Amino acid sequence: MTFSRKKITVAYTVEKCPKCQTVKRREFSQKDVLFSESSKCLSCGGMMVIEKIYGQILEQ
Ligand SMILES: [Zn+2]
Repeated sequence: MTFSRKKITVAYTVEKCPKCQTVKRREFSQKDVLFSESSKCLSCGGMMVIEKIYGQILEQ
């Protein structure tokens, strides 16, 4: 009998505010496009830009 390990890939989106350099990481959403404006910066009110999208493999 073999035991299979479950692997889950979790994708993250990293947003950065070009004005105040605030970096925010959140879970990836399907409509995220690299280098596009995503959400409002909570620190300065500017638009945050998606800087990086990456996946992380979690083993269970
Ligand atoms: Zn900002």
